[in-house]
Formats: sequence, structure tokens, C-alpha cells
Amino acid sequence: MDIDEILEKVADAVEPHRGGGKVADYIPALASIDPDKFGLAIATKDGACHKIGDADECFSIQSISKVFTFSLALQKVGDGLWKRVGREPSGSAFNSIIQLEHEKGIPRNPLINAGAIVVTDHLVENGDADATIEMLLRVLRDHAEDQSVDIDYEVAKSESETGARNRSLAHFMASFGNLDNEVEVVLSAYFRHCALALSCSQLARAALFLAFDGKDPVTGERILTPQRCRRINAVMMSCGHYDNSGDFAFRIGLPGKSGVGGGVLAIVPGEGAVAVWSPGLNDAGTSTVGSIALEALVAETGWSVFG
Ligand code: GLU
Repeated sequence: MDIDEILEKVADAVEPHRGGGKVADYIPALASIDPDKFGLAIATKDGACHKIGDADECFSIQSISKVFTFSLALQKVGDGLWKRVGREPSGSAFNSIIQLEHEKGIPRNPLINAGAIVVTDHLVENGDADATIEMLLRVLRDHAEDQSVDIDYEVAKSESETGARNRSLAHFMASFGNLDNEVEVVLSAYFRHCALALSCSQLARAALFLAFDGKDPVTGERILTPQRCRRINAVMMSCGHYDNSGDFAFRIGLPGKSGVGGGVLAIVPGEGAVAVWSPGLNDAGTSTVGSIALEALVAETGWSVFG
């Protein structure tokens, strides 16, 4: 299979849809992004990166960062993580508070905002959110083999300024005793990790270990046990795309995670990691053109985990 030829076909398939969807407008830095942007990169086990379009332009990865914090928290606390966060799809918006009351402050899964805030709390030691972010940047730069990976601090500031809902979620969970650190400390790490800016090429490379049982196939470094890697992929498959996770599994059939910056990460076990970016979102918050691109890619390659 010639991946570069397939990427040309994917680009043809998305062309009529370019600019589709609605760009997130809750903060100026996202609202001003050109809706016509489209990039896609595939990292494979030989260390190659196949790419097309705006694949080297950095974008705000937003909730895709939750996959990396989830992975780090599983490494740090193991199965103890599941005492404070569930692993069921929420069927609700990413920032919903309703279920939290019924379920006594235990969020449904690590990939919705409330769950990711608990995960971030696990990663904060001695109340030092800066150290958490330094550790996360170190890890991502290593995984991406690119020391230029960074946070967009303007986005991070806007996230905090518009973060009333996330503050509500965090205080609500704190009232049930489900946060160890101060709310503002946890959120200062959470807002910054949501503001990570990576290109499709960097993101696909950084997530490659998830396609190879937790081991980076290029460097040989074991990052996660195969069992934990499988579990992260399972949670991505069932919970990775807000309340359209079922539709994403139906159309694409790969573990993945969306962010409201228009990025989507998809993992192809045994083959590679795919990152696509196009800023226009569907009603649930997943990239419209990004989903179309992944659908076309899976149709051409047969990469769905369902065959
Ligand atoms: N920073 C956004 C929030 O916490 C993330 C949204 C997303 O990408 O799902 O509300």
C-alpha cells in the first residue's frame, strides 16, 4: 500500500467539504483560525511521517491532551485511578455537570472535562502545577522527538479567563472530596495542558506508542504496559468524542480523541498514529472535515479495528 498515494485520495475526498463545520469561538485565539485549514499526518513504526496539507502547522490540541495526561496518571497510580474516575461513555456534553451530582462527584471517564480534571489532580504533587506542566512538556517533547513542542500561553490565559464551567466542575468534585489539591492549582495545570500547540506531525509521532502496545517502535522505549495501552485505546474508542463517540466508532472504527481546536487523533493498532486537523466542528465538538478525512482514510486502507 502506498500511503502517500492514499493521502492524495483523502485530500480529494475532503476538498468539497473544506471550511465545513463551525470554528470554536469561546476564545479569540480559536475563533480567529482560518476554517479552510486542513492537515493530516500518519506516523508509522519505521519512524516515517506521511503528511499532507497543513500538517506542520501548530494548532491548539485542547482535549487531545487528555489522552497523554490519562496515560501518565495510569503509569503513576495504576488501577487506583479507577477509584476516582469511571470508564463509561457519558452520553453528555464534554463539560456537563448533571451526571456529577447523580454519581457523587465521580466523573464518567478521563476524557471528559471533569474526568480530565481529576486525572490532572493525580499528576500534581505538593501543590506544584508548574512542575506538572514541566514534566508533561518533557514527556511530550521526548515522545514527539521534537524539543520545540510548547504551550500557547495566550490560549492558556483565555482558557482560564473563560473557565467558569470548568471551575464549577472542579469545585463540585472538591465538595465530594474528589480533588486532593486546591481547585485553582489543578485548573492552572489543566488550562495549560489544554493549550498545548502541536502540529499533526508532532502529535502523530508523540502518540505512536499507543499503536504498538505501549512501546515506541522507533526508539524501543516502553512507555506503558500492553494492558494499560489497550485500556487507553478502549476508553478512546468508547469515550473519545464527546457525545458523538458512538457515531465516530460507527463511521471510522478506530480509537481516537477529538479536541475543540479541530484536531483528531486516531490510533491504528499495529500500523501507526494519525493526526488530522481542520478547525470547523460538528454540533458535538468534533472536526467535521477531520472526520470525513478519517472516514476516507479507513475506506482506502481498511484500517478500522473492525476489519
Ligand atoms: N479547554 C476546553 C475546555 O476545557 C477543552 C475543550 C475540548 O477540547 O473538549 O473546556
